[in-house]
Amino acid sequence: MKNVLSGIQPTGDMHLGNYFGAVQNWVRLQEQYHCTYGVVDYHSMTMPYKADTLRENTWKMVFYLLACGIKSENLFIQSLVPEHVELSWVLGCVTSYGELSRMTQFKDKTDQLFETDNDAFVSSGLFVYPVLQAADILIYHADYVPVGKDQQQHLELSRDVAHRFNRQFGKEYFRHPEPLFTETPKILSPADPTKKMSKSLGEKHYINLFGEEDRIRKQIKSAVTDTGDTPAGQMSPGVQNLFELLRACGNLTAHDALMADYRAGALKYSDLKEEVAHTVVALVHPLRERYAELNADKRAVKAQIQESSAEIRKRAQQTMREVRELTGLVGMK
Ligand code: ADP
Repeated sequence: MKNVLSGIQPTGDMHLGNYFGAVQNWVRLQEQYHCTYGVVDYHSMTMPYKADTLRENTWKMVFYLLACGIKSENLFIQSLVPEHVELSWVLGCVTSYGELSRMTQFKDKTDQLFETDNDAFVSSGLFVYPVLQAADILIYHADYVPVGKDQQQHLELSRDVAHRFNRQFGKEYFRHPEPLFTETPKILSPADPTKKMSKSLGEKHYINLFGEEDRIRKQIKSAVTDTGDTPAGQMSPGVQNLFELLRACGNLTAHDALMADYRAGALKYSDLKEEVAHTVVALVHPLRERYAELNADKRAVKAQIQESSAEIRKRAQQTMREVRELTGLVGMK
């Protein structure tokens, strides 16, 4: 079985965009591949954050992922495998400053910081973030990494770094990870469907998967359908987004019937919204039940993830033993 590796930052709530765009795909991949998924808390330290919130969000993300169907044996917390940082140091020494300077995400995130604060602190962690990501991937000898377009450049860097390491130390040691592109829906903000659903835009711009069901219904029912500037004869982004949600939830019967109404000019947006609200709540309901079950025995779940992280760590430690040998570092006892 081929190895798949992916990580998600513990950034708080999980929204429908995260679920349909990433997590649902992760759940499915478990059937086909040997999957290893990390809650990458080291990565979350690259932007301003609070210690208590980070720890809380890390566990929250673990519970969300388990509730969505990620198997506990496939899940680890990145900082419980400190070898990621060790490998990241070694890889940083075969990554050039120039390569890192070309990473567009660094520029985007820096711009984001300066948007709110002219004197914003830009950490060097943010600059070397792609090296830690390369370590995350290479340490488990991943064959495939499910990526969105925004992460493609970082994966390219991981491949380049693997190649350079192998050349420098004279052995085809690291695999060259390949992107695994899966067509996943892009979900738009219900409050402004010209933008992607995202937490960074604020609360009304995302639908929280584990929030109150009533709030989910309300947000869908008040979703913007007409942005006012859609050319005649074209479907507005808000309406497209509602149809996309029906499709993402797998309710194709309702999708096709309502689409036929739309084409015949007979669609009532209130009917569409009613159906979407019903479908989303029905999809989310069992996930929320599972989440409540997991929370009823928090300690046991946490112990299980400590255990799976320790198991996964053994693979990382083996890689580090071999890397120490290849790179001239002294072996550990
Ligand atoms: P956010 O900060 O809004 O939670 P992230 O940028 O941390 O989103 O993304 C986490 C994962 O969710 C990524 O794999 C990303 O591609 C996916 N994702 C985020 N927003 C959306 C969206 N609106 N539609 C589809 N996928 C999304």
